[in-house]
Amino acid sequence: MKVLVIEDNPEIQEAVSLTFELNWPDAKVLAALEGSAGITKAETESPDMIILDLGLPDMEGFKVLKEIRGFSDIPVIILTVRKDEIDKVRGLELGADDYIVKPFNHMELLARVRAVLRRSHIPELKGTDMPFVTQSLTIDFAARTVVKLGKQVRLTPTEFNLLQYLVRNEGKVLSHHALLAKVWGEEYTDATEYLKVYIQRLRDKLEDDPANPRLILSERGVGYKFTKPD
Ligand code: CA
Repeated sequence: MKVLVIEDNPEIQEAVSLTFELNWPDAKVLAALEGSAGITKAETESPDMIILDLGLPDMEGFKVLKEIRGFSDIPVIILTVRKDEIDKVRGLELGADDYIVKPFNHMELLARVRAVLRRSHIPELKGTDMPFVTQSLTIDFAARTVVKLGKQVRLTPTEFNLLQYLVRNEGKVLSHHALLAKVWGEEYTDATEYLKVYIQRLRDKLEDDPANPRLILSERGVGYKFTKPD
C-alpha cells in the first residue's frame, strides 16, 4: 500500500509517516510539500491513497484535488484545520472520499484510511447484476463502466458502489441509514451529508436534467429509490 501525503508542515508529515510505520508496516509513505509536486507524484507514483492538506503554499488544496480528479479516481482524504461544514461539503463535492480535521487522532486517521480503502474495493458481482440499459444510459457492472449518450462517464469507486447498490434494489426505497451502512460502513450511518453529496454527484453525471431527477428519486425524510424511466 502506497500513501501520498501532500502537506507542507514537516511535523505533520512526520506524524503521519510515524503513524503508518508503527501500525501499518507494509504501507509506504511518500511526501509532497507542495500542491504541484503532489499532483506530479499522484500521476507518476500511482499511490493507493492520498492524504491532502487544504492549506498549501503554492496552491489551494481544493485546486489540487480538482486536478487529481481530472486524471484519477484514487481515494483522497482531506486533512485540514478548517472545521467549517462548507469546506467539508466542498471537498466531498470535488471528489474527496473523506475528511479529517487537525489536530487528528492517529487511530482516527488509520480508521478513516481503512474505511476509505475498504470502500474503494470492488464488491462481488452477483448473478443478478445484469447490465442496466436505457435509451441514453448503459451501466455495466462487470466492467464497472457507465456510458451516457455514447460517452463514457467516470465514477469514483464509491460513486459506482452507491449506484450499484441502488440499481440492485431498483424500485425499492433504501433508507439513508441502510445506504450509508452498506456503501460507507457501519461507522458512517449518521453521516447523511456524505450521502447527499454523492447522490448529487451521481445525478449530475447520470441524469438528463439533474434538477429533475428521473433515475434517483428522493423519498423525503426516508431515503432514495432508483427507478427505470419508461
Ligand atoms: Ca498546511
